[in-house]
Amino acid sequence: MQPDLRVLIVEDVETEAELAVRQLIADGLRFSHRIVAGEVSMREALHTFAPHVILSDFTLPGFDGLGALEIAQIEVPEVPFIFLSGTIGEERAIDALKRGATDYVLKTRPARLGPSIRRALREVEERERRRLAELRIRENEQRLRDIIDTSQDWIWELDVNGRFMFSSESVRDVLGRSPEELGELQFQQLIHPDDRTAFAGALATLDVERHTAIGVTARWMHSDQSPRWLEGNLLALFSAEGRVTGFRGTSRNITERRQQQERIARLTRVLQMQSGINAAVVRIRHRDELLREACRLAQTVGGYEFAMVSLVDPDGRQARPWHHTGTRRDLVVPKQFAIGDGTDADSSLTGLALRTGELAISSNLNQSEPPVANRAQLLAAGFRSLVALPLIVDGARIGVLTLASCSADLLSTDEIRLLQDIIANLSFALQYRQKEDTVQFLAYFDPLTGLAKRSLFCERLGHLLKRSTDIAGKPLVVAFDIDQLSRVNDSFGRLVGDLLLQRVADRLKFHFEDDERIGYLGNGAFVVMLTSPKTSGDSATSLLHNTVFRDVFNIEGHPLRVSCRSGVARFQIDGEDGGTLVQKAEAAMKQAKEAGEQSLHYHVKMHSEVSERLALEHKLRNAIDERQFVLHYQPQVNVITGRIEGLEALLRWNDPDEGTVSPAKFLPLLESSGLIVPVGEWVMRQAADDSRHWREAGIGPLRLSVNVSALQVRRRNFVEHALSVVRDTFVDGCGVDLELTESSLLQDLDGTARKLRELRTQGVRIAIDDFGTGYSSLGLLSSLPVDILKIDRSFINGLPADRGSMTLVSSIIGLARAFNLTVVAEGVETQEQLDVLRGMQCDLSQGYLHCRPLPLEQIEERLPRIGASRHSA
Ligand code: C2E
Ligand code: CA
Ligand code: CA
Repeated sequence: MQPDLRVLIVEDVETEAELAVRQLIADGLRFSHRIVAGEVSMREALHTFAPHVILSDFTLPGFDGLGALEIAQIEVPEVPFIFLSGTIGEERAIDALKRGATDYVLKTRPARLGPSIRRALREVEERERRRLAELRIRENEQRLRDIIDTSQDWIWELDVNGRFMFSSESVRDVLGRSPEELGELQFQQLIHPDDRTAFAGALATLDVERHTAIGVTARWMHSDQSPRWLEGNLLALFSAEGRVTGFRGTSRNITERRQQQERIARLTRVLQMQSGINAAVVRIRHRDELLREACRLAQTVGGYEFAMVSLVDPDGRQARPWHHTGTRRDLVVPKQFAIGDGTDADSSLTGLALRTGELAISSNLNQSEPPVANRAQLLAAGFRSLVALPLIVDGARIGVLTLASCSADLLSTDEIRLLQDIIANLSFALQYRQKEDTVQFLAYFDPLTGLAKRSLFCERLGHLLKRSTDIAGKPLVVAFDIDQLSRVNDSFGRLVGDLLLQRVADRLKFHFEDDERIGYLGNGAFVVMLTSPKTSGDSATSLLHNTVFRDVFNIEGHPLRVSCRSGVARFQIDGEDGGTLVQKAEAAMKQAKEAGEQSLHYHVKMHSEVSERLALEHKLRNAIDERQFVLHYQPQVNVITGRIEGLEALLRWNDPDEGTVSPAKFLPLLESSGLIVPVGEWVMRQAADDSRHWREAGIGPLRLSVNVSALQVRRRNFVEHALSVVRDTFVDGCGVDLELTESSLLQDLDGTARKLRELRTQGVRIAIDDFGTGYSSLGLLSSLPVDILKIDRSFINGLPADRGSMTLVSSIIGLARAFNLTVVAEGVETQEQLDVLRGMQCDLSQGYLHCRPLPLEQIEERLPRIGASRHSA
């Protein structure tokens, strides 16, 4: 028991009070006490003495026990008040207890006093404990309420039917709604349709065993109709019998994190799409295939639900959808998109992109700007954003890649930058693909007539020869030449001559139907192959006369009657491959012209040169031993500075009988007899000697280039030999370079590339000679170790009048720039040509304009001296 129990005794009779004190001591209580008899002293004691228990007599003079009780109840309601009285009757006792007394003890039974006080104190203690407990509970409740009210998370409760029973205030922030509003609703009404089933499913799995679910995500609809990603922890509520009575949950807004994740995932996909497209650019040669692949990658890898390429019409006024891929097959694509000039509002994103040449974006299709064709349909199909990327090739806007996505506002600046990179790569690739196509086209087709050139015609003829096994089915080749062409050119000008050739070509196409059977050999000569077994050479010729040349040609108001002379060659007698057959038809045609015949068949006699050939071969073998070969040198001049930077070594034969013979006369024989190998080795050695000689004489720096035949390259010890010859010519910008034709590069491509690579490591540079006449393609250039492109003379010849040549030459120079190659123009004869080439940024020029090939002694005086500031050829 507490030692400082304070007892207040309200008693007017001192002995009575004394008795009570004794009784308490007798009961073993340790306490202090104060005795008061009146109202004033009692009030005072209540405050100064602060009793734990009050004992009061019932009858007091001028102030009774009930009055004391009233005072105590007001002043210290929690302190037990016990009546101690001798006169109390049953009724008054009950009344006293009703009024709040704790107990009453009769003075006649003092033994009850101790236990009564103890009980009262226990009750006080008990009450205090309960008060404290209640206080704690209230505090806890308040704390929880505070937590709920201040939480960013939304806390809610549902009944078993999914109706909201409670919602924290934070729902205002999270979903833009008030808790009261929610009272009317079921949760399904707030969840995105696509997520309803999953969320209801998560609730349904909760039971007594597993009554919580953590991290359940779903999209809830904000009052502004846009979805919010909420991540929630769910808890099932149970009745005493274990029945689910409802659910409680806390949900957190993770929209931003989610969007961030989605953005990153999207960026990753677009990055993968970029690397896919870059790989395709390298791998795919054909423009259409490349564009299709880009669409496919945008959809499957880039994750755009729809990808489309639209191409601009030739008139440039509208673009039309050309290819599209997408998961929404039902989507109706507009037939065309108008490209405005800015005076009227654009009607489509495609039109806008093409008009401005910039990427155009609608990052939220719900908004009415920028213009989007078929906006309503796109929205109905589920699309939310659209981007149009213009494809720009050579400065021209050729089309648009359109990408659509089902998510809005996700086009981050990073993604846009990536898309711009992708479209730039694609445009670049298309640009070079287009140049390459032009190069390829002009290499194979005559731009004037649109017909196959010799090489393509021969190739096609060769295929045909291989395909038809029986001799009767082998084709017949007719070459013919327009008699009056040079007269037409002279009288009416080149233009009329060109138009005439075009009209002849048109009529040929019309009468022979299959364009692949017709070729143009140049200089007014055409060639056709005829496969019908019934066609004889004569009927073929009369066919020409009766169809193509029957009617007068009317060109620019000039009625022109034209005829031709033809030569015919047939396979079974006359030749093996396409090239030979065509040559024979040409030989016969030439013969016909000389003989004044309309048409001649090829005849073996026309080749009576065979014996001449043998004699020549004999002389050439001699020439090596007799040192009759010499080198002439022709300068290569820097187009800008006019300085001689290199010399090409050209072979000449000093025939004791005929004087200086040009290679055209003897090279074919050197090649076919294999003599080119020792002669070629001599050329290289001589050039290396001359290079050293000039350097020692203070001339240069100069690079000498020598022509190398395919036969030489093919030799096993080619690299070894070449290096032993040119070894110490490579000093200070001097050295010996090799020129190879495309066809010699193409034989054994891998082996040749390996050899050339080895030579390059030792300072030898490699030039492709006669570029444009063969099969060179972008792919080839990138895979071959090449430093220099020499544009064939035939193209330079056409500058600047001939449009085809202009395009081809500028395309080749563009290609060369892309691959970091030096460009040399061959056969430059006029100042006009040089000016055009300078404009096209050609590097070097070689031709009669600067200097004809000259012997060593004569060329020397024109060469720059080391240290001299500037020399011109
Ligand atoms: P190429 O390699 O294309 O040599 C350029 C030819 O164009 C040279 O003819 C040159 O004289 C001629 N040329 C240069 N400028 C002009 C011009 O402004 N107008 C015209 N119409 N022609 C010009 P060339 O010397 O008769 O050589 C003919 C071809 O013989 C060479 O063509 C080359 O393929 C081959 N060749 C010459 N020397 C050698 C050699 O040492 N080895 C091998 N394998 N071939 C050689
Ligand atoms: Ca050459
Ligand atoms: Ca050449």
